[in-house]
Amino acid sequence: MRTRQGWIEVVSGVMFSGKSEELIRRVRRALIAGRRTQLFKSHLDDRYSGQFHISSHDGRRLEAEPVSNAAQIAERVRSETQVVAIDEAQFLDDGICEVADALADAGVRVIVAGTDMDFRAEPFGPMGPLLARAERIDKLNAICVVCGDPATRNQRLIDGDPAPAEGPTIQVGGAESYEARCRRCHEVPKRDRAQVELPLRGGGVGWEGGK
Ligand code: ADP
Ligand code: ZN
Repeated sequence: MRTRQGWIEVVSGVMFSGKSEELIRRVRRALIAGRRTQLFKSHLDDRYSGQFHISSHDGRRLEAEPVSNAAQIAERVRSETQVVAIDEAQFLDDGICEVADALADAGVRVIVAGTDMDFRAEPFGPMGPLLARAERIDKLNAICVVCGDPATRNQRLIDGDPAPAEGPTIQVGGAESYEARCRRCHEVPKRDRAQVELPLRGGGVGWEGGK
């Protein structure tokens, strides 16, 4: 029975930051607490163990229902479900915001995990609006594979080289790979556009003077 207050919590961050580990930890604890729980994941992610599990990079896994869009989650949530967990939410459509809000309004604890930035370091799919709606947000860092600092960005590589900004945001089954990198080591070459020139670079006001 849903007698409690519902809410939305988002676990965001770069790839390899431990979002799936954290989602699995929260779901395990909800199950220990005896909460009726359903897990969903975008069908676009089938890494490691096929479409019917949530897997972390360290090999932990839980059963999950694959969905192609937010409406499928709304259709499949059972009336007695108390906790809904969704992995790889960046691949879902904006309708996930409405679905998450409706579930939380109905007393469900909604746990959403997803990478908040695409390979260009721009907001990824519905993650921005979801973060704005959430009662609780945790942004996790990975480790930059170049310098060892905390990593916040997804580096897309094609044959070992940084992928250009013009590529598609979601590339399914491509030859590209990803690394976790920090702001300084993250590279997104722009083929046809000049890089943005900041006025403060050319002798303008500094960071403090810009207030
Ligand atoms: P996410 O869901 O955010 O992609 P996972 O939970 O699947 O992350 O995996 C996190 C695990 O990945 C870490 O606990 C660690 O064992 C491993 N890992 C591999 N590369 C890195 C990295 N560059 N920084 C941090 N952890 C990494
Ligand atoms: Zn770095």
